Amino acid sequence: MPANVDDLTAVVRHALETTRATTVCPFHDEVTIRVGDDAAESHAYERAKRVVRSDGTTWEGEALREEIGRQLAAAADGRCPKCDRTDPRA
Ligand SMILES: [Zn+2]
Repeated sequence: MPANVDDLTAVVRHALETTRATTVCPFHDEVTIRVGDDAAESHAYERAKRVVRSDGTTWEGEALREEIGRQLAAAADGRCPKCDRTDPRA
């Protein structure tokens, strides 16, 4: 379960990471990388929909889709740009 089930951002981030739609760079905690395909992303949506908030309700699908879209848009595509910049082999 996410650390805070009442925080939409945390719920979506957790769902994306646990379904391997995204991953956090092992060298840069602040960098989220989009690594999954459409199947992983829809799996993340289904997982987030099942999260029950502390008041016993679940998140609305529309809010989840919007937040998933926002986080995927903010994520780096496939590779960490900071590693690309510092890795001499790149
Ligand atoms: Zn990195």
